[in-house]
Amino acid sequence: MSQLYKSTRGKELNISPSLAILKGLADDGGLFVPNEIPKFDKSLNNMINMTYHELAYEVMKLYFTDFSQEELTNCIQKAYDNKFETSEIAPLIKNVDRYYLELFHGKTIAFKDVALSILPHLLTTAAKKNGIDKEIVILTATSGDTGKAALSGFANVKGTKIIVFYPKNGVSPIQEHQMITQKGDNTFVIGINGNFDDAQNGVKNILNNQILKEDMLKAGYQFSSANSINIGRLVPQIVYYVYGYIQLVKSGEIDLLEPINVTVPTGNFGNILAAYYAKQMGLPLNKLICASNENKVLFDFFKTGIYNKNRPFILTSSPSMDILISSNLERLIYRLTEDDSMKCGLFMNELSKKGCYEIDEQMRNKLNDFYGGFATQEETNSTIKDVFVKRNYLLDPHTAVAEAVYNKYVNETKDTTKTIIISTASPYKFTRSVMTSINNSYDKQSDFELVDEMSELSETKIPQAIEEIKNANIIHNKVCKIQEMTQSIKEILQL
Ligand SMILES: *Cc1c(COP(=O)(O)O)cnc(C)c1O
Repeated sequence: MSQLYKSTRGKELNISPSLAILKGLADDGGLFVPNEIPKFDKSLNNMINMTYHELAYEVMKLYFTDFSQEELTNCIQKAYDNKFETSEIAPLIKNVDRYYLELFHGKTIAFKDVALSILPHLLTTAAKKNGIDKEIVILTATSGDTGKAALSGFANVKGTKIIVFYPKNGVSPIQEHQMITQKGDNTFVIGINGNFDDAQNGVKNILNNQILKEDMLKAGYQFSSANSINIGRLVPQIVYYVYGYIQLVKSGEIDLLEPINVTVPTGNFGNILAAYYAKQMGLPLNKLICASNENKVLFDFFKTGIYNKNRPFILTSSPSMDILISSNLERLIYRLTEDDSMKCGLFMNELSKKGCYEIDEQMRNKLNDFYGGFATQEETNSTIKDVFVKRNYLLDPHTAVAEAVYNKYVNETKDTTKTIIISTASPYKFTRSVMTSINNSYDKQSDFELVDEMSELSETKIPQAIEEIKNANIIHNKVCKIQEMTQSIKEILQL
């Protein structure tokens, strides 16, 4: 069956999958959603012996219906190769009575690798299908994690260039080092003298600069975006929920068709939305436990039905979840309105005008799939320590938020349903906050010294991603003022 996409705000209809990937965001500001969320066309029993790659094909073929089997298989093979440290791509780890789906064995040791490894291939294939002969220029502003994952995904992908702007003094030393040592002739990294908001606004202005766009087209270039609302990032994330479920069945932890819960450390609501889609497709998922840090907009939303971003922005040790506007929530709101794009558009309008909106009773009743929880900074730190001392397993701060919220959920509900905790980053990416959670005195050492300490203490191997940057040459050293961002792009593209 062929699948078409429409905007959650209703002004764009019947968009092909490949065009939806190319556009990223709809012209009316909405997000692309499939006309219908498909059901699996094979039983779980028939998928039980499939590899990650085969499952990826089973899921993606239902969404990207204008890609041929050969095209999709090709994208999957290129994405999930030895860039990942484990051939399973997403290993499920049993630790005493807990299950962790480790999504951090890719190039940049965070879960965004899973989707950003395949997006470049989906995007270039989509460009070919739509007769686009221009070179695609990906423009990204990053607060740390997305930039490196996008750089690494697009490096040396033919027909693309990637330009990343980051706040020169606003990322961790390891994050900066990861970016400025990025190899690949088509990669460009620029620090700006400003904060993340400046970088993000600068990129938005550039994307809306009509004169620049025309100059680019003449020179054979076209902009696109790799950010997390692209449907080409959401769909690949559905795969690991199916994979995780099947691993539980295969290892005899659950019976086939037995429902499980998942706990997801959440920021932009992309990861947990993929779980919601998986459930709608027929995967036996019970509760979707949404874990927030102190920026607990989502916890409040699930509790009260009011989404309110008017509050202080809190910096925590889980920076990838420091977010007040969870963009992907729009796709859930759309479902709660029973696909009423008018109504969904009104909520989003209120959000941009007043910073808040309230859903009605009828919509709230459909939120039963979810449980919202949050963890404070102190709870996050003590969870890291507890789990390490009691079970000898090191959690990164994002996963620790999930663990802490899951503990609260069990205490509150006494629910004994088996639960997968989605593990989104390697502790090696957040060495300082992890080590100081275990013992304050580690704060005196440098970031790379702490890497060695962590390896010794936890008896785990330092990931390749960290080894690589330790002695890597700095390739990108350009820094510019906020007002010079457009000029830097022109220099790169020789416009
Ligand atoms: C991006 C990110 C998250 C949040 O995922 P969303 O899809 O934005 O909800 C959680 N943990 C880590 C490590 C991340 O990089």
